[in-house]
Amino acid sequence: MSTRVAIVTGSNKGIGLAIVRALCKQFQGDVYITARDVGRGQEAVKSLASEGLKAMFHQLDINDLNSITTAAAYFKEKYGGVDILVNNAGIAFKVADETPFAVQAEVTLKTNFFATRDMLTHFLPIIKVGGRVVNVSSLASPRTLNQCSPALQQRFRSEDITEDELVGLMQQFVDQTKTGEYKQSGWPEAAYGVSKTGLTTLSMILARRLSKERPNDGILLNACCPGWVRTDMAGPKAPKSPDEGAVTPVYLALLPPGATEPHGKFVSDKQVQPW
Ligand code: NAP
Repeated sequence: MSTRVAIVTGSNKGIGLAIVRALCKQFQGDVYITARDVGRGQEAVKSLASEGLKAMFHQLDINDLNSITTAAAYFKEKYGGVDILVNNAGIAFKVADETPFAVQAEVTLKTNFFATRDMLTHFLPIIKVGGRVVNVSSLASPRTLNQCSPALQQRFRSEDITEDELVGLMQQFVDQTKTGEYKQSGWPEAAYGVSKTGLTTLSMILARRLSKERPNDGILLNACCPGWVRTDMAGPKAPKSPDEGAVTPVYLALLPPGATEPHGKFVSDKQVQPW
């Protein structure tokens, strides 16, 4: 049997690095730090080595389709696919940032929704039997869902929303922040929140598709919130350490062989949350 492999996006620091640290301790196989910047990624490998942990490294900028396809080809060739994929890479503008809202919307959705979707498009076909896919979303996703119009909420909660429809809605939000029409269409003023509402909904769509198209492969795919965690994104006042923030993503990544749930859920503090 080929060596098992786990990969975590955006894992040169923050929650992603803590997820790699935990997987190095608990997962029987190779664990990859991936980062858009090779230097920052290799520094992170060194920092774990100083703790006695052996992580490997591959460059991966989720905003660069060529980087995604190169990485997917590498893991397919070297390991026959991927056992654990954690889509952790994400961005958020600071509350005080004065960048125009339309720019914040475009840039935030580009990474958190569209680029994460590109990752899933290219990596889901190589997820191995029994694989685990974890999308690091946020409690901002159900909160923002509840701030959308009833019509949008109905679509995000429906079982028949397609990936194309969701992509169209996310693009509509971005486009309408430029024309100022987004509020009339039922969207709240929340770029990060909408990006994560999109990611959680996408997770549910793709989980349903996996159940339908690969019913016997035992793959579990979920979205989660790590909690409010002290990182460069959330700042020093957050209550959880990065290692504490890694607990729920790692729990989902290591759901035992043969488990059938959770699947297609939004999970926080290891509990399935209402959507
Ligand atoms: P962070 O410390 O800012 O780390 C974000 C990581 O994502 C960095 O490694 C960053 O790389 C990477 N990244 C950004 N864009 C990327 C790209 N295009 N390709 C590859 N990597 C990219 O943030 P964090 O708090 O650890 O956040 C991790 C995840 O948890 C995010 O998805 C975030 O939305 C989510 N989250 C965090 C909190 C919280 O309280 N911290 C709460 C809820 C959800 P660089 O170093 O190169 O920038």
